[in-house]
Amino acid sequence: MRYSLIALALGFAACTSAPAFDPATPPLVLTGEITRADNQTYREISFTPPPGTGRISIDFAYTGKDQKTVIDIGLRDPEGQRGWSGGNKSHIEISEFEATPSYRPGRIQPGEWKLVLGIPNIRDGVTASYRATVMFSDVDDPAAQAQSAAAVVLSTQPRWRRGDFHNHTAHSDGSCDADSARGPCPVFNTADAARDGGLDFVAITDHNTITQLADIRRLQASHPKTLLIPGTEVTTFFGHANVIGNSDFVDFQLGSPRLPTLSKLFDEAAAQGAIVSVNHPSLPSGEVCMGCGWTAKDTDWSRVTAIEVINGATLRTSGAEAPLSGIAFWEKLLNQGFHITAIGGSDNHDATDRTGAKQSPVGKPATVVYAEALSTRGIVAGVKSGRVFVDAAGLPGAVLEMQARAGTQSAWMGGAIQLAGDETAGITVTTANVSPETRLEIVADGLDTESGPMSLGQAPSFRVKLASGATRGWVRVNIRAVDGKLLLLGNPIYFARATSP
Ligand SMILES: [Zn+2]
Ligand SMILES: [Zn+2]
Repeated sequence: MRYSLIALALGFAACTSAPAFDPATPPLVLTGEITRADNQTYREISFTPPPGTGRISIDFAYTGKDQKTVIDIGLRDPEGQRGWSGGNKSHIEISEFEATPSYRPGRIQPGEWKLVLGIPNIRDGVTASYRATVMFSDVDDPAAQAQSAAAVVLSTQPRWRRGDFHNHTAHSDGSCDADSARGPCPVFNTADAARDGGLDFVAITDHNTITQLADIRRLQASHPKTLLIPGTEVTTFFGHANVIGNSDFVDFQLGSPRLPTLSKLFDEAAAQGAIVSVNHPSLPSGEVCMGCGWTAKDTDWSRVTAIEVINGATLRTSGAEAPLSGIAFWEKLLNQGFHITAIGGSDNHDATDRTGAKQSPVGKPATVVYAEALSTRGIVAGVKSGRVFVDAAGLPGAVLEMQARAGTQSAWMGGAIQLAGDETAGITVTTANVSPETRLEIVADGLDTESGPMSLGQAPSFRVKLASGATRGWVRVNIRAVDGKLLLLGNPIYFARATSP
């Protein structure tokens, strides 16, 4: 007991001694002139990051390019060369877990740094002026966030985006065959598999780390149509949860002073603009699968954005609706009044297994999100909105949409409608690229539904009203194959009884 008290005291001491970054720190502007006397020489310009700096961003510009002046740039940190981008980049970012290619990610050490200029060419009689704007920030600073790998925007076109929220690589336990031996599986395999599978996005969610950020930043440039979303599978003794869209490490040691309760995890994720999805909640826990099922006590479900209702491993071995799937777990929470978005994740650990010989391939199941932009923030916002469906069957281009209308109110999946008394809402289901042979299933709680025969050929519609005595309810739809197999799982529209004025 005494030992743990001492450890706690030390922990607090370490916390308070860490220097805090002052967000009011102005940029440092380094300017100077280069003449022929500098031709084919190097110039090193010193600067010192202020205490607590977590990220350095540099914009570099110079005059005289029209006269063939060339100024290369690089950086030295207090311990040595940090990177060299020559003449190929005018903007540089460096932080603990990610950096512009040509530069090493890593801690921003206190002490003297040097901006290194190399001058391969400047003509006689020419004077060039340069300007380096060096910006310092904390990694959690909104301006720094805007520069992180999580801030990449591939498209601003609003539309359905298909992707996979759960993948492992060499940054945790992803492994694949390399030269007939098993080795850690590089991130590019996952990015390539997502691209070749026609996915718009893929989340790289390694266990308890975010070191994959450097790879994501590097690979995104060569995957211009496939958004690589950073994430972390926070893997605790009491359950696994994906943080999706984080740009920094998040604590995972649930039950220890680092993460006494889940509320700190929710806070950390929110501070980074990320969301929390509870993974494979119905898997067993214990020696058969350490911490796999969700047993965390006192989970505040109002702070959980999503639940992984279909996990690739159970989908492959026992189907989308096996007892180990998360669907029943999720619906129980919907019945309690929580608004939580159902998503899926392949949980792939070997992206070279394209046929699913040993595990569910990248993109199976897929989650299809209506997003305002193809960006991490856009996909995260789409999941929050709930306008999302899960494709358990791998139907490229499939769309499942549901809209409710009551009077002047209308809502898409994930939205909410207020109903007075016996007021009814009309629900319309729209599909695309789904065989008309399939059938529609309505799943609801707290509602009376009235429907005729449902044929996908003719935009099926039905009406709902709150059941007598119910103050809230939800309705969602599934698309099933003729043999009953679940193909597409839709998210709910929520209803609440309007309070009389
Ligand atoms: Zn897991
Ligand atoms: Zn996993």
